[in-house]
Amino acid sequence: MANTETVIVVGGGVIGIACAHYLRQAGLDVTVVDQGKIAQACSRSNCGYICPSHVQPLTEPGAFGLAIRSMFNSQSPFRVKPQLDIGLWHWMMQFARRCTHAQVLRAGKSLQTILDASMEEYRRLLPSLSAETEWRENGLLYVLQTERGLEDFARHDDLTTKHFGVQSKCLSETELANFDNGFVSDLAGAFWYPGDGSVSPEGLNQAWLASTRTQGVAFIEDCQVHSILKDSGRVVGLETDQGELSADQFVFALGAWSKRWASSLGGSIPVQPGKGYSVTFARPKNAPKYPTLFPEHKVGVSPFEKTMRLGSMMEFAGYDTAIPPARIAQLRDSARPYLKCDVDGEAIDTWYGWRPMTWDSLPIIGRAGALSNVYLATGHNMLGLSLAPSTGRLISEMVVDADPHIAPDPYSPTRF
Ligand SMILES: Cc1cc2nc3c(=O)[nH]c(=O)nc-3n(C[C@H](O)[C@H](O)[C@H](O)COP(=O)(O)OP(=O)(O)OC[C@H]3O[C@@H](n4cnc5c(N)ncnc54)[C@H](O)[C@@H]3O)c2cc1C
Repeated sequence: MANTETVIVVGGGVIGIACAHYLRQAGLDVTVVDQGKIAQACSRSNCGYICPSHVQPLTEPGAFGLAIRSMFNSQSPFRVKPQLDIGLWHWMMQFARRCTHAQVLRAGKSLQTILDASMEEYRRLLPSLSAETEWRENGLLYVLQTERGLEDFARHDDLTTKHFGVQSKCLSETELANFDNGFVSDLAGAFWYPGDGSVSPEGLNQAWLASTRTQGVAFIEDCQVHSILKDSGRVVGLETDQGELSADQFVFALGAWSKRWASSLGGSIPVQPGKGYSVTFARPKNAPKYPTLFPEHKVGVSPFEKTMRLGSMMEFAGYDTAIPPARIAQLRDSARPYLKCDVDGEAIDTWYGWRPMTWDSLPIIGRAGALSNVYLATGHNMLGLSLAPSTGRLISEMVVDADPHIAPDPYSPTRF
């Protein structure tokens, strides 16, 4: 470890932890700073899918129309709350421009590269972390309730397999019952993506945090960064709750908070918070064995060892912190028609997270604006957990000027 450079990673979500891990592996002296506790924001109680099959970006044809209609339906799982926010409307317009088949293929290819690279990294990394990660390579199931839903999903699957070469298996109702007996009868069928995996997000975060700590990474909690100090095109320090902090290099991994830093870092960081919810309760008898999504009701089920989680929703409602009981009830109501098990267990945890959404569905990874020693690692949309390892590795390669393991251009902050 000859490199004696110091790096501060601002933001201790899964992306910040991943950056810290790879930077430390490259021999740098790393400190992670978070305004709260480590991994307690969007990285905490998400669904835990590590899903290289999610190659299709959100910008599919029709997505913008859905967003507009959702303004008039407060129960819609995908919802834009009517509001006078010019930044959000600019973001929506850019999103709308990209809702084309060509963009699905173009962005999908770039997404697939980093999804696949991350999966490889996880396969190397996870066996060395503790069992609390609950790492499983059992694939991901999509269960459809109606024939119409099955047909719609078959078109989605066709595109995923034909254009991206992702493997899947279509299961009839009877095959589904043999595959996983956690579902009610009279469903239309299912698709299984065997190349996907899953973790307990809390378990992964804590295990990765402990391992990076052991490697020598320092973590400073309850320390909000307020402003940056610049000199000659470089950042020389950060003004924080706990005084001034300085380092040679800086990585901003601020998730949904990122856009607030656009003017001081120089450049556009078009990240909007896309709010989702989850509810977690004790694992019921007859819980499904496989992590599962129900595309028609847009809800996911994550069966962990001791608990089960339902998660969903995408609300563009600004930095809203409420957890409306109606949304939690909706999660349970959406999953109920599919599952044999009880979905009404007492909540151990109800949670919201702000996904860091970009208008092209791709993450933002690379050098920030004109500042020579600042890097951005943000905008991971609905896939931050899945994309964390390759993001951290790319950032580390950029900081130490090593050959990148994947081409970084599609994720560059300069594309905006
Ligand atoms: C319901 C739901 C389900 C999901 N399921 C999945 C899934 O199954 N698989 C998957 O891959 N992804 C999933 N995601 C997406 C995933 O959770 C996010 O993409 C990911 O957590 C983003 O990580 P992050 O580190 O960028 O952000 P965060 O975890 O939000 O971390 C950002 C950190 O920056 C800190 N910060 C902000 N401002 C400052 C400041 N000024 N000073 C210091 N610190 C600051 C915050 O406190 C926070 O800790 C899901 C999201 C939701 C909402």
